[in-house]
Amino acid sequence: MKEYTLKENSSPQINLSLARQRDLSESTITAIQTIMDKIHIIHSRPLYYCETYKDAVECVESLETTLQLLWGFSYDKNYQTYRFGFKDCSCPKVDNRERVGTGGFVYDKGCVVHKWMFEGEVFMKNYSYVEHREDGDYEVVVSEKAAIRYSKNSAERYLEEHPERKEDIAGVLSDYTDEDFLEQFIIIHWATETELDVGEYKL
Ligand SMILES: [Zn+2]
Repeated sequence: MKEYTLKENSSPQINLSLARQRDLSESTITAIQTIMDKIHIIHSRPLYYCETYKDAVECVESLETTLQLLWGFSYDKNYQTYRFGFKDCSCPKVDNRERVGTGGFVYDKGCVVHKWMFEGEVFMKNYSYVEHREDGDYEVVVSEKAAIRYSKNSAERYLEEHPERKEDIAGVLSDYTDEDFLEQFIIIHWATETELDVGEYKL
C-alpha cells in the first residue's frame, strides 16, 4: 500500500511496475500521472494555486483520495501522506512515515502549512490512557469532550457508592465548572494530554 506515495523532493513519476502488477489500464496510468503532476505543483506553490494553506491541504487530500481509488485501493485517510509533502511543511516526516496506516499522524503546531488546524475557535485537546486487554496493552486516545463525559460518569458512579464524598466531587459534576478544572481533574486522575488523534494504538 505504501508504494504509491511519492518520495520527498522527487519529481513525481508513477511507479510503473506497481501499475502493471495491479493491471492498470493505460488511461488509468495517464490519469494517475496527471493527478500526481497536479499535486506536485500545489506542493511547490500552494498559495499561487490556492487561496489559503487550508484550501491547499484539502485540495491535495481530495486529489490523493482520487489517486487511491484509481490505484484500486479503498479510500483510507490513514494511508494518505501527501498533506505532508509541501515544501514548507515542518511536521515530523519520519514519525509520520512510521504512522502510515495507524491513523495517528502528528502535526507541528508551528508548521506554516498546518497551523490553521490549531487555530479553530475551540481547539479540543485529546487525552490518552493505557488499557490492559487480553491481547496486550493499548493506548486509548479520546477527545476532550469524551474525557469530560467519562469523568462525569465515573464521578456519578462514585457518588452512588460514597454519598459522604459529595463535596469532593461536586466540582466535577457541576455544569458550571470551567474547563480548566476538569482538565486538571482528568490529568490528575486518569489520563495524560496527547497530540495523538482519537483512536486506539497497540503498545
Ligand atoms: Zn505541516
